[in-house]
Amino acid sequence: MAFQDKYDFSLLVNDKERYVVAELEAQLKVRTEVCRCQECILDMVALALNHTKPLYRVTLLGAIYATADDESVHQEITEAVGAAVDRIFANPSHARNESLGPEEKA
Ligand SMILES: [Zn+2]
Repeated sequence: MAFQDKYDFSLLVNDKERYVVAELEAQLKVRTEVCRCQECILDMVALALNHTKPLYRVTLLGAIYATADDESVHQEITEAVGAAVDRIFANPSHARNESLGPEEKA
C-alpha cells in the first residue's frame, strides 16, 4: 500500500485558508468591479495563500477553530488578500468581460 493511500492526509488543514476566504468575501463587498467567477475567486485565494505563512493543523476532533485574534496574522491576511485582488483584477486568467464559471451576483 502506498504511503499516500495508507494515511488520510485530508485531515490536514491550513487554517489560513479559512481566514483568506472570509477576508476575500469582506473585501469584495466593496470591490464591486472585481470579477467573481470561479476561476478568479480561486486564483485570488491561491495567490493570497502563497503570500501567507501556512498554519496547518490536524482535524481529528472535527472543526475546532483557532481564532485569528493575533493582530499580525490579521494584518498579514488583509494585505495578502488586497494584493491578490489587485493582481487578478489587473490580470485575470481569462479575457476581460468574459467570465468563466458560475457568476455570483453581489
Ligand atoms: Zn473571472
